[in-house]
Amino acid sequence: MVDTGLKFEVDRDKIGWLTFDQPNVPVNVLSSAMLRDLDHLLGELESRISNGQLFALVIRSGKPGSFIAGADVREISSVHSAAEGQTASAAGQRIFRRIERLRVPTIAAVDGVCLGGGTELILHCRYRIASDSAATKIGLPEVRLGILPGFGGSVRLPRLVGIQNALGMILSGKPVTASKARRLGLVDELLVDGRFAEQVQRFVREVVTGDRPTTTRRKGLKDRLLENTPPGRRLLLSMARRRTLAQTEGHYPAPLRALEVVIRGYTLSFDEAYALESRALGELLTGDTSHNLIRVFLLSQDAKKAIPAEVLENRRPVEAAGVVGAGVMGGAIAELIAAADVPVVLTDISQEALDSGLRHANELLQKAARARVFSPEQASLKFALITGSLESAGFESVDLAIEAVVERMGVKRQVIRDLEERMAPEAVIATNTSSLSVAEMADGAEHPDRIVGLHFFNPVHKMPLVEVIRAEHTSERTLATAFGFALDLRKTPVIVADTPGFLVNRLLGPYLNEAGYLVEEGTDVGRLDGVLARFGMPMGPCRLLDEVGFDVAEHAGQEMWSAFGERFSPSGAVTALRADGRLGRKNGRGFYLYENGREKGVDPTAETLVRAAGAEASGGPADDDILARCLYLMVNEAAYALTEEVVTDADVIDLAMIMGTGFPPFRGGLLKWADGIGLETIVSTLDRYRADVGPRFEPAPLLASMAERGATFTHTA
Ligand code: NAD
Repeated sequence: MVDTGLKFEVDRDKIGWLTFDQPNVPVNVLSSAMLRDLDHLLGELESRISNGQLFALVIRSGKPGSFIAGADVREISSVHSAAEGQTASAAGQRIFRRIERLRVPTIAAVDGVCLGGGTELILHCRYRIASDSAATKIGLPEVRLGILPGFGGSVRLPRLVGIQNALGMILSGKPVTASKARRLGLVDELLVDGRFAEQVQRFVREVVTGDRPTTTRRKGLKDRLLENTPPGRRLLLSMARRRTLAQTEGHYPAPLRALEVVIRGYTLSFDEAYALESRALGELLTGDTSHNLIRVFLLSQDAKKAIPAEVLENRRPVEAAGVVGAGVMGGAIAELIAAADVPVVLTDISQEALDSGLRHANELLQKAARARVFSPEQASLKFALITGSLESAGFESVDLAIEAVVERMGVKRQVIRDLEERMAPEAVIATNTSSLSVAEMADGAEHPDRIVGLHFFNPVHKMPLVEVIRAEHTSERTLATAFGFALDLRKTPVIVADTPGFLVNRLLGPYLNEAGYLVEEGTDVGRLDGVLARFGMPMGPCRLLDEVGFDVAEHAGQEMWSAFGERFSPSGAVTALRADGRLGRKNGRGFYLYENGREKGVDPTAETLVRAAGAEASGGPADDDILARCLYLMVNEAAYALTEEVVTDADVIDLAMIMGTGFPPFRGGLLKWADGIGLETIVSTLDRYRADVGPRFEPAPLLASMAERGATFTHTA
């Protein structure tokens, strides 16, 4: 039998202590084997209780800083029918309800992360107490996987904290801090971090001596009207539905379903409400959206293991870091490093740039504090970890430096030479270049083996992806150090080859370029962006070009055109707009106009400037063709990237495009989506465009051969 790490002991006061401590893993994950053990143990507890051998039960975790991180997502992904999902949900509910029915007080003592199934477990205890440490987060993130809480969470939480608070947690999937949980009535008492064990003992004594009433939440008049009356609940349902639809544009079914289960379930009997929840879970689990979201979750977990544990362990620990160049990227990278509690030196050649980089870093930390990622005091402490220096003082002792200076080979090579002189011989030098060859940059360096690319995306604090670029001479240890550091910064690193545009920008190239061609043909910018936004992209390609800036886009486009030839042959759009003095959002003029940073709508003059002579205004191809032309070119380029082994496989491309460009996660990734369309369809459509529109649509040899063989890019369920 597998040891699921469930430990039970009874102390001399007849208090039972049930500890979750799964062996060989850093956090507890609720697996079906663990639930079976729990079920079995509950039988033993019930008989001890009837024999008067147990007065109370405490449920806790043996893992420091974490309670239960949720259910086993891999197990969830193996469910293939609605009936199977419904049965699994009902089994979990039955076990948790058995805890609820124990005839002694049950106390969940939470210290650290408590998510999903963990939260549903504690919801079935009579008392919940939690450490006030920053690590304590309680939440139900199921909708992020396209499902809903299915072990009673959708039924119990609204009854405990009210419908509106429950919806706030369930529909967003965002966890709450311990103090918020206390305010909501989700926990009965906050325990001081550092004295947790002792305070749990005290709380238990109060419970068994009968001094401890359970918390009852009193609703105000407005909440009573909204939650306790049928018209009030109807109003809540329609308001929340409207808000959810506006946020998800109808792409995500789980929040809508959860909404219905929470509100309808609120007035049903427990048996009926639990059955409603199980049915909804089974149905959601078999939908495409949950398949795709669960796949993306698992891919992001797997990505962290791209470097074997034994190699990663041997990396250089980064106890201090340096950033050269305090511009748009440098300031934000310094903030990210400080947010991870690593001291960092930020340097620039200009005092003005340095000041502005430090200001930017501070603003980001304050913003995180306002969003309660950490407290204002912690934000100040983190900011104090950043040292600004014009002289690069302190680089002697950094373990890793990231250069984020202007995108010019000569300047970057000089910076690397300077860094080599200052830094310890084995310390790592990383470049944040988006388009230059890392090998060329390292050429002439004394130790090219310690040079690597660490390509962050803008805005740094928001974009989860980091491309870790392995150049010709990058050593395994350097690669592992850079990769491990990206993990320390809570980013999703993917290892890519040192080829032009690396992965993400290379795939975005043809997509953005095609947008220019479409506007030349007369397509309205608003319509074009709308088509891609409705598909689920965070913004359309014209708006994205405005964000990137036409100077940067032009430069990158030229680089890739000279590297890859014909298929990157640029439309005239970017050059025409740049010649008109437009840089995009940064100078307030692009395809759109901006005033004080706010977008003011499409600029018809920009459309006229780009439209080719003779092209009809508001012309251009049909919406379906717009979508296919932009996206199939990206798929085609992905096939070239796979052929050239820019990354190891299609899964990495899917993950990188989601984490680096916001490609809609509910579609499972670019290549998963392409598989769904069918490669044959994509190739025949590309062939048609090649004949009708231009040679850039020539299908990549790999794509053509896969289509012929009936192959697919992705293999996961
Ligand atoms: P930026 O122009 O905003 O900042 C560059 C900074 O480097 C300036 O403050 C400049 O004073 C400083 N600098 C120039 N020479 C220096 C030197 N010798 N020593 C120290 N500092 C020096 O540029 P950015 O947008 O932050 O881009 C920086 C790097 O990041 C580039 O390689 C760029 O390709 C890459 N990148 C940019 C983005 C983006 O969206 N801006 C995204 C990913 C990667």
